[in-house]
Amino acid sequence: MARIRAEAGPISRARLTGALGSSRGKIAAEVARLIEKRLLAEEGLAESEGGRRSSLLVIPPSAGLVAAVDIGATSIDVALTTLGSELVAHRGEPGDVRDGPLPILDRVKALLLELLDEQAASPMDVLAIGVGVPGPVEQASGLLTAPPIMPGWDRFPIRDSFAGEYAAPVFVDNDVNVMALGEHWGGVAKGVDDMIFVKIGTGIGSGIIIGGHLHRGTQGCAGDFGHICVEPEGPLCSCGNAGCLEAMAAAPAIVLQAERCAREGESPLLMIPLQEKGELSMKDVGEAARRGDYCALTIIRKSGRLIGQTLASAVNVLNPSMIVIGGGVSRVGNALLAEVRSAVYQRSLPLATRNLPIVMSELDDVAGVMGASVMAAREVLSFASR
Ligand SMILES: [Zn+2]
Repeated sequence: MARIRAEAGPISRARLTGALGSSRGKIAAEVARLIEKRLLAEEGLAESEGGRRSSLLVIPPSAGLVAAVDIGATSIDVALTTLGSELVAHRGEPGDVRDGPLPILDRVKALLLELLDEQAASPMDVLAIGVGVPGPVEQASGLLTAPPIMPGWDRFPIRDSFAGEYAAPVFVDNDVNVMALGEHWGGVAKGVDDMIFVKIGTGIGSGIIIGGHLHRGTQGCAGDFGHICVEPEGPLCSCGNAGCLEAMAAAPAIVLQAERCAREGESPLLMIPLQEKGELSMKDVGEAARRGDYCALTIIRKSGRLIGQTLASAVNVLNPSMIVIGGGVSRVGNALLAEVRSAVYQRSLPLATRNLPIVMSELDDVAGVMGASVMAAREVLSFASR
């Protein structure tokens, strides 16, 4: 079943048998079982490869839906996909994760019901639910554990909160891990089996794919890149330590520095929105940088340099073949990406960077829901195939 999903489209019985290297009879029996469960369907005949034409197998939309949820620090995205992780419907809106689990999850469930209604479907049609959250998730329990930017969510039973309406199993992971899965499944890193996905937003984190598999580590918190110390005497971080990369280079740090510049009269472009609103947003800083504002560009470049320097250490340790950059801050323009690239190329071993593209995410705001769908579909199908 996983092999058919990996195809992301129809596969012939003959190719499936070849790819799995198992006996024809054994595969035919398994395929028959999955067809009976309506998890697979036959759809026409494949091109002849010599001999009898073999039938094409697909995961039909009628197999059921996957509900995919991506809770960011300041956004909620929900989607419905097929079991083959093809996007059926998606909706996103702003949401502050600091409001706590009950209002945020109520909103998630309301949005899901809206999408299901539009597809003339019901919670009974959902086979699996995948949820990405912006904090460390203990893999075995699916519980958030001391999430720095999510007050009130520590060990909150997210899985149980869907149990009233849904019979489907719920799988929870860190948002950056699921974004990495999304990029690896259907984004710019499709088929790239050793890669690091870095999200730069309110926080900074990374998802690591090694040998085609997400590397979660023993407890599930591998890739927690934002809390690497870059300046022992630096500003206090939300995790309680000082000088973490996140405290120095993520959106709140960028905005704080921009506000200081504006107040000190160093940037007329930043002063106008600050006077109008009393505060600045990441969008204001990005807009000023695009218009060539010296202060905004300097702050963004400094952030890119710190991220690149830290990333260079990860490159030396893991030797990936691609780095994908995503998240709200990454959208401020080329200055950030250029600085990340130059710091990584400068600080990593020459052999490690000989062939190392550092690129922007292609899936952007659907990377999270795509990855949440991939995670949930894989889990539920590996169970169905047992
Ligand atoms: Zn920290």
